[in-house]
Amino acid sequence: MKLNINFCKKIILLLILSLNISMFGQAKPKVLILATGGTIAGSAKTGVQSGYTSGQVTIDAMVNAIPDALKVADIKGEQIANVGSQDMSFEIMLKVANRINELANSNDVDGFVITHGTDTMEETAFFLNLTTKTDKPVVLVGSMRPSTAISADGPLNLYNAIAVAGDPKAKGRGVLLVMNDWIHSAQSLTKVSTTAVQTFMSPLRGLIGITSYGTNDFFNYPSQKFGKNSEFDVKGVSSFPRVDIIYADADMKPDLIDASIERGAKGIVIAGVGNGNMNKASLDACARASKKGIIVVRSTRVATGLVSRNVECNDDELGLIASYALNPQKSRILLSVALLKQRSLAELQKIFEEY
Ligand code: ASP
Repeated sequence: MKLNINFCKKIILLLILSLNISMFGQAKPKVLILATGGTIAGSAKTGVQSGYTSGQVTIDAMVNAIPDALKVADIKGEQIANVGSQDMSFEIMLKVANRINELANSNDVDGFVITHGTDTMEETAFFLNLTTKTDKPVVLVGSMRPSTAISADGPLNLYNAIAVAGDPKAKGRGVLLVMNDWIHSAQSLTKVSTTAVQTFMSPLRGLIGITSYGTNDFFNYPSQKFGKNSEFDVKGVSSFPRVDIIYADADMKPDLIDASIERGAKGIVIAGVGNGNMNKASLDACARASKKGIIVVRSTRVATGLVSRNVECNDDELGLIASYALNPQKSRILLSVALLKQRSLAELQKIFEEY
């Protein structure tokens, strides 16, 4: 009987491949950590003190603390910055976004983890959600306790974030944040406690999933636009128009709005009371700003709920935008990115409803 050589070669190759998989397990996902600092990289003199310095520990030291992570992924790291996230800037956010976009189609990376301080993590997460063009998982992670603390939460958070970033089921769910076993969407999450380990919540739209020692359950996709469906592109961008947030309260002084315009703001976000409200004098100042071409967005200082148009003030008449589901800090990010291009009030309102 004449043997078909090509057929034999194929069989041998299949045998070798199946031997490889059974001997060495499935090929591990390749996860790239982009480190920016934060408490997860923080250190203190003792394990039981509340004072510490953010952004002290390098990425290698963080990964060395969780040798088990090397079993779930091939890990590489790049130190983009090492700051407490109170010092996060658009410059650093852009570096992270550009690096992810550069590697979006590379076979060397299956998923990204961004280590970050928790204070402004929601801003960076939302910025990346708008500006990175990939279906690969992009996962932000931080901790509430520094690396030197008793019961530091960073190592398990980082382990879980690596497991989520390497999980094909995490693809196409937008930018995620993993902390304390919960998987949040960049769109909905917000920080709710100054010190508690359980600090992130997703009040309006709920969680994307849950992780437990690297085993992930996903039960949601974000409903808003992000990633490849986002119209925002920061390629070649080096700065953003100034957008200020002004906090409303009882007997609010409207001259803060005028001062902001004098300092060159192109956009103003009001952290309004209730459904994005403010007193009459401040509304008048906002209407004056709008007439000058400054974009004014009404958001809310309240932790949850939508800010809708024309409820207790006439946005159509005053020329204002309602922030819809976005809190003031995320509204500021969206407006900064949206104002890179000339857009009408109607277009901007639509953007606030879609992202
Ligand atoms: N201030 C710290 C930071 O945002 C807090 C933290 O990471 O939890 O970097």
